[in-house]
Amino acid sequence: MDRRTPSPERRLLFDTLCDYVEQIRSEGMEGLPLGTTSPARIAQTREPAHPETRETAAIDAPASDRIVPKTQIETEQMFSRYPGLEKTTTLEELREFIGDCERCKLCKSRTQVVFGVGNSKAELMFVGEGPGAEEDARGEPFVGRAGQLLTDIIERGMGMKRSDVYIANVVKCRPPGNRNPEPDEVAACEPFLARQVELVKPRVIVALGTFAAQALLRVKTPISKLRGIWHEVGGVRTMPTFHPAYLLRNPGDKRLVWLDIQEVMKELGRPVPRRGKP
Ligand code: SF4
Repeated sequence: MDRRTPSPERRLLFDTLCDYVEQIRSEGMEGLPLGTTSPARIAQTREPAHPETRETAAIDAPASDRIVPKTQIETEQMFSRYPGLEKTTTLEELREFIGDCERCKLCKSRTQVVFGVGNSKAELMFVGEGPGAEEDARGEPFVGRAGQLLTDIIERGMGMKRSDVYIANVVKCRPPGNRNPEPDEVAACEPFLARQVELVKPRVIVALGTFAAQALLRVKTPISKLRGIWHEVGGVRTMPTFHPAYLLRNPGDKRLVWLDIQEVMKELGRPVPRRGKP
């Protein structure tokens, strides 16, 4: 095997290890080796931050049954920040617990908390980044143009109903100007998503776009390298794929999303429609 040309799997493993080392270094661990940034990570840090340009380097990574272990979610540690959160036993109780939340600065610019929608016992859960303007106004995730495309993926592509699945976001309040959520905002809100996942108990999560995938998997690897490969989040098989908003700008990459969705359907034991491509 030529070790000078790492396979995508090796590169992903290395990137994941780098992320882990960087994380524990940032948490104060001393004595760690320096120089753990891979060439791919260096290239990544040079990528523009805007989603329109972040997701342009799609690679056609084949889907497989490999599960890439994520850094351990410290669920109990997360929940300990909000005493009583672990006692919520239904989505309704969780929504009540969140209330008119002011636990991060996004509360200042939002119209309302956009909690989540769909089947509370869904076997399939979609997770996006955060509410946009229409979602903020209507109080429901994925209701704009990107939301319509997601509905097409679910209904025309997968042959399911939108009401069969559960849809949520990493942060529940709209970031001003549709900017990316900031780390402190994600940290404040992620216990709610973790509890949503625990309560819905989906068999499969689809992480939509760079931000959702990176937040769920706790890596900084670009979506183009994460998509098409099974990961695991809190024991749930997770497939990252491109965000519908990205597909509106780059319809040629619907082909890649369809490959990812076919893997999801196989995992769920559902037939893959021949002409179901959205
Ligand atoms: S984004 Fe989450 S933590 Fe922040 S105010 Fe909204 S619900 Fe609360």
